[in-house]
Amino acid sequence: MKFSSYLAAAAVMSGVQASPHPAPQQQLLGVPSTPSQLSYSQGGLDDIISDSPLLSLHRALVKIESISGDEHDVGVFVAEYLEARNFNVVKQEVPPVKGQEDTKTRYNIYAVPRSYTEPPSIILTSHIDTVPPFIPYSVHQPTADSTTLDPEDLILGGRGSVDAKGSVAAQIFATLETLDSNPEAKLGLLFVVGEEIGGDGMKVFSNSTLNTKDAFNTIIFGEPTEAALVAGHKGMLGFKVLAHGNAAHSGYPWLGKSAVSAILPALSRVDVLGDIPTEEGGLPASPKYGPTTLNIGVIRAGVATNVVPSEAWADVAVRLAAGTPAEAREIIQRAVEEAVKDQQAEVVLDFDSHGESYPPQDLDVDVDGFNVTTVNYGTDVPNLDVNPDVKRYLYGPGSIFVAHGDNEALTIRQIKEAVAGYKKLIEAALEREEKK
Ligand SMILES: [Zn+2]
Repeated sequence: MKFSSYLAAAAVMSGVQASPHPAPQQQLLGVPSTPSQLSYSQGGLDDIISDSPLLSLHRALVKIESISGDEHDVGVFVAEYLEARNFNVVKQEVPPVKGQEDTKTRYNIYAVPRSYTEPPSIILTSHIDTVPPFIPYSVHQPTADSTTLDPEDLILGGRGSVDAKGSVAAQIFATLETLDSNPEAKLGLLFVVGEEIGGDGMKVFSNSTLNTKDAFNTIIFGEPTEAALVAGHKGMLGFKVLAHGNAAHSGYPWLGKSAVSAILPALSRVDVLGDIPTEEGGLPASPKYGPTTLNIGVIRAGVATNVVPSEAWADVAVRLAAGTPAEAREIIQRAVEEAVKDQQAEVVLDFDSHGESYPPQDLDVDVDGFNVTTVNYGTDVPNLDVNPDVKRYLYGPGSIFVAHGDNEALTIRQIKEAVAGYKKLIEAALEREEKK
């Protein structure tokens, strides 16, 4: 969807109070100027969704709260849905998120048609967890001043509507429709937990016997890409900067060692590593992904203004445009050592407590008829270990710009187009197999 449409949708939603035509049952709707011709009742909207199996599935998925760690219910729902449609479903247990040991069991859902005797070769995969907070499902009309109303423009909102339950619903329908016309197609569906918190679900799948990777030749990842094929995404590296000093009375700072004084030059240096050339000690850029960027997202230090701080630390996320995490670590290490060499308090880097690190991920874009783009967000792509000759695609409905926001939403048109897009990718994979 065009970004402007989302802005319009957001404006409609936030402008509800000021609507000149308040309609008690249509709190989230932009009410057109001639309601009798240009608007649906809430009942009418609900019927449009109920009449479509695809949109009904999407609605059911979004209605189930599934914030990372709490994916039991949505997993069971997806498993039953696919079992009822002639799939063998494996509910693969994934250990609980730390600190949430008392929540119900989380499952990756892996489904292949019952008729198969061999593992599938084409996998469609996405994630069933969402970021917080839960936002209820809604259907609403696009703008308050539209002169025509096409049901395809209706907006489906709620947490996960885009990221990634839009992809999940579209992948399921693309698979069902393909199998309908071509029961021989070797398709598998994999819906994982925990994508939003580092990919623990995909890692469990990847390391399990379900990852029959010698059989796989195409993996289609579903994430919001605005229906473009993604040529790749940046790599990732996280680290902590820690400074250890000695506390003292602030009136006699020379009696202590300030952890803050020591960490500041380190962080100032870290902060610009994406902007300076590699010859000057910076992190590499690439024509494909642009500059490497760093975000110092958290800083904590000290206990009171009259105490010389003995401890300080910061959390940093790096989005790598080129090179490997190991190369980046070396560059960062050297930069920080240089920046703090005159400091009294000790400054150290910790690359281990941030588990996730991977180089830029290059993906395939060799199917005609798609826009091609790159993205700055991370996905489960690096968490699934595949053979080097496997084709990997990243594609899905909706925009990343709304994915984690309060106005997360997509249109009916977008979700339907995504079914067609996934089918096209499946088709291309099948053709490749035939040629082998
Ligand atoms: Zn996602």
